[in-house]
Amino acid sequence: MLGPFQPFPRLSNDARTPETLRSPERGTVAAVDPFADGRRLAAAQEAARRAGIDALLVTPGPDLLYLTGYQAIALERLTCLVVPANGEPVLVAPELEVPAAQASPLGAVGVPIRSWAETDDPYALVAALVAALAPRAAAVALTDSMAAGAVLRLRDAMPKARQQLAGPVLRELRMIKSPDEIEYLRRAGRAIDSVHEQVPDFLRPGRTEREVGDDIAEAILAAGHTTVDFVIVASGPNGASPHHEVSDRRINVGDPVVVDIGGTMDSGYCSDSTRTYALGHAPDDFLAYYTVLQEAQRHAVESVRPGVTAESVDTVARDAITEAGYGDRFIHRTGHGIGLETHEEPYIVQGNAELLRAGMAFSVEPGIYLPNQHGARIEDIVVVSANGVESLNNTTHELVVIDPTYSS
Ligand code: ZN
Ligand code: ZN
Ligand code: ZN
Repeated sequence: MLGPFQPFPRLSNDARTPETLRSPERGTVAAVDPFADGRRLAAAQEAARRAGIDALLVTPGPDLLYLTGYQAIALERLTCLVVPANGEPVLVAPELEVPAAQASPLGAVGVPIRSWAETDDPYALVAALVAALAPRAAAVALTDSMAAGAVLRLRDAMPKARQQLAGPVLRELRMIKSPDEIEYLRRAGRAIDSVHEQVPDFLRPGRTEREVGDDIAEAILAAGHTTVDFVIVASGPNGASPHHEVSDRRINVGDPVVVDIGGTMDSGYCSDSTRTYALGHAPDDFLAYYTVLQEAQRHAVESVRPGVTAESVDTVARDAITEAGYGDRFIHRTGHGIGLETHEEPYIVQGNAELLRAGMAFSVEPGIYLPNQHGARIEDIVVVSANGVESLNNTTHELVVIDPTYSS
């Protein structure tokens, strides 16, 4: 994916995964490790102190998952982790959610839970906790994904506290992946690679994009993901729309097909990879720019190392495509960070002078799109290593030409 993206589990083995995060029969006990020792909470408190924040307020979403391993569903009833700059973090949760919270890695971390009953005011409870833990309570930082209703109720409950976003406080922690996190992303990369390896079996002449997409979604789950986050099967002219999903268009001999797919693993970490296929002989003008794209993507990946800027990676891809005359057909940024969210920092885009550092993970996904004709994109997730780059997607970058007469 490359645009603003709202994760929505369209297909799911288990939309609510606290149990799967710890379930031994799934072989994913290791997923608990990064959460289980409270190191992330301690680091967040340290970051809050440095930023002059009295407390972080974290409702269900990626920050809560990152800090505690608790994959709570966002409900109208308030669940909120209160992380004071100093002192013990506390989870405020509706009484009926307490068993789920305790069963999650948050329980193993030992975060105490303050439950509230149906007629209590949970916002007043959060305000009282903040006041007790941080008597000044001059500045509170709210998780970026908090619903507006909760933001405003917290403002009313704590009228003297300045509200700001937690993103800038937590970004360093979230952006620099630990060795554990990189290993989860590697596994996610291998899983989605195994799905791309099956795509030639699904792409048959006369099938619709939706039929192919259904097979891919099934394969994404079979490969070990717990949710299918998106499936793009963009054939022929649909390939010129970067965020086309699927349609009832039948795939014809001679069509190039852009396949961009991703899901979330048991660990909570996401996959995202794009390959372009051709059913039989693709048009010559397509083949001409596919080679340009392949070179541009490779050079961009090779340019990744600690100390270069995020935007420089975009420049490498863009310059190669522009020199070949397709600059105005590369209509999106080169990439986005990835972790517990499919799209997170750092963004690989002009204007982002952030210096790349070891542990950052992001996509490199230039594309070329000819309206009403066809398009192509190649996307790998890469991790910045100590002195270079590691690609987490390793299926071929060559155009995968499928023999339309082949039958399995
Ligand atoms: Zn996208
Ligand atoms: Zn993608
Ligand atoms: Zn992407």
